[in-house]
Amino acid sequence: MVLRGWKKFFRSEKDTIAPASTIGGAAERAHPKKASAQKDDKPKKRALGRPRAPYRKEPHLEKQVIADLSKKIREKPKKFRTDRATLFEIADSVLSEELKMPRPQKLKAHDVFTMFWTVRRPSKKTQGSPCHEWQGSVLKGAPVLTTLQSQAKRHVLVDARKYIVENPAGGKRRNFRTVPENMCGNPFCVNTKHIRMVRKNPLSHQGENHPRAKFSDSQIVRMVKEFNAGKSAKEVAEKWGIHTTYVKQIMEKKKRTEATRGLKIRGRFGFK
Ligand SMILES: [Zn+2]
Repeated sequence: MVLRGWKKFFRSEKDTIAPASTIGGAAERAHPKKASAQKDDKPKKRALGRPRAPYRKEPHLEKQVIADLSKKIREKPKKFRTDRATLFEIADSVLSEELKMPRPQKLKAHDVFTMFWTVRRPSKKTQGSPCHEWQGSVLKGAPVLTTLQSQAKRHVLVDARKYIVENPAGGKRRNFRTVPENMCGNPFCVNTKHIRMVRKNPLSHQGENHPRAKFSDSQIVRMVKEFNAGKSAKEVAEKWGIHTTYVKQIMEKKKRTEATRGLKIRGRFGFK
């Protein structure tokens, strides 16, 4: 975010005023009440006005400042509302208010994320790998953090477990349309090894639960019985008012398989 600001600054001096005002405008639209109180433009001004000079002179400072930042966050993780500010916003506020240092270039969002977990002792259940228990904000029993939506620059709340699975350390960003589930039994654990992504409700849109499903499972079973009794696929299709192809697909166990599981269906080579 800051880097982008820098690029804009150097690209052309004319551009500097326009993008800043549009970003401010977007922020105001997203948080009409908070915009003035939070002073969104404050960190930007500082970033532009105070380059990373201290680190350029003394590169080892970066590591030290990151360690200090980690200590500050780990001391009172609940103080920093991950449901209100992004990881970088939290880091920047600690850096500027308490450590009086600009953000080290080395510092990645993932580093800040790790500052919000406590490593638990591994148990038999987790097969020797420790739980990383989330210490940030919790909403509806789930660990949450704030991210910045890339296009609208708006704050969005995400499940911390999903976030870390989608943004692996040093890895490529991925997108899941699924929900996280803890295999270790600790819902606040953000150790990616303990998380698997699952469908919201495995049965919700399948078979007779599909929003466009015309027939219940028991109706499908009746079709199969008629077919087994000797009716042709065309005859069954005509009776139920559906396509012959669909009837054939059901009888070949290619469609509505939940309804016909375990049923013997007459086929070209006998029952299967
Ligand atoms: Zn765990």
